[in-house]
Amino acid sequence: MQTGKGKERVSCDLCGHAEYNFITKQTDLIHKTTDEIFEVVKCRKCGLIFTNPRPNKESIGRYYSDKYTFHKDKSLTKKVINHALNRLVNNSFIRSISPLFPGKINRILIQLLKPNIPDPVLVYLNQDITSQKEISFLDIGCGSGSNANFWGTASSLLSLCKTIKVIGIEISDDARNVLSSNNIKSYKTIDEISSLNKFDIIRLNWSLEHVHSPSKYFEFINSNLSKDGIAIICVPNNDGLIYKINKSCLELPIHLFHYDIRSLTKFAEKYQLTISEYKTFSYPAMYAFAEDISLIPQKYNFSKMSLNKAFEFMQTHMILDDIGFGNDLMVILRKKGKN
Ligand SMILES: [Zn+2]
Repeated sequence: MQTGKGKERVSCDLCGHAEYNFITKQTDLIHKTTDEIFEVVKCRKCGLIFTNPRPNKESIGRYYSDKYTFHKDKSLTKKVINHALNRLVNNSFIRSISPLFPGKINRILIQLLKPNIPDPVLVYLNQDITSQKEISFLDIGCGSGSNANFWGTASSLLSLCKTIKVIGIEISDDARNVLSSNNIKSYKTIDEISSLNKFDIIRLNWSLEHVHSPSKYFEFINSNLSKDGIAIICVPNNDGLIYKINKSCLELPIHLFHYDIRSLTKFAEKYQLTISEYKTFSYPAMYAFAEDISLIPQKYNFSKMSLNKAFEFMQTHMILDDIGFGNDLMVILRKKGKN
């Protein structure tokens, strides 16, 4: 149902139920594209959490900030600097002397601090079973193909296109132009891909929370995943500690769905898929940013924290990550009966 001014009120995408309970409301505190208020609701029947009312397909574009970096291509210099800084933050000696660094330097280094989660695409490609045939990889929401978000460049389309068959799905025309200049085949939506076209790896890296109908993507995975293939889904985890501290840490209105392991499991079951692996993880930069915009109490003082202290914080957080309270969630899906 359209509610005027480019917004629509919707029923549950997972079970179709039209009744829901109010969870929270908030404006765009993160990208500051609007001061309109958006509500988040929970389906009374299946528990799916979603933004409702929400921007419709025609209006959603105006809530993406120009600074939204997802589609931007990094220059080679930036990539080299990033690589060098990544090595620095993982060096225990550098961490131990970090309290001596100026606050600004610590702040830059903390941005790069991440837990060591093996890249699921590379893990799959390194298995023996994949050595005999040509692997096909579909990256949904691939941006310009230069990086794989959390995992950096090693499993980007640009790197993988040298060894396996890759295709990208990307809504941004600019990003698709970059892909085609690198001879990477891409489409604007999954609708352009025939169900006869099977993929060994389908990846949705932080894209499923942005789509208007996740069901459509699960249905696509069900029909287009090869028999022994995997689908990798990474999304913000609504069970994450940061969302327990303050529900308003949600990225509204561009995140239309707010998943947890229960809702992803129900989606998987509905489309004859099983979750063969699941992991939650967190990194300190998210807390530092939430503190900057007053979404979490300033008493922890992330803005003045040394790299070393932030590293200790991340290590402690891993206990929570292990029991499902990490702020990001990764699941690996397989066809039923194949895990
Ligand atoms: Zn529902």
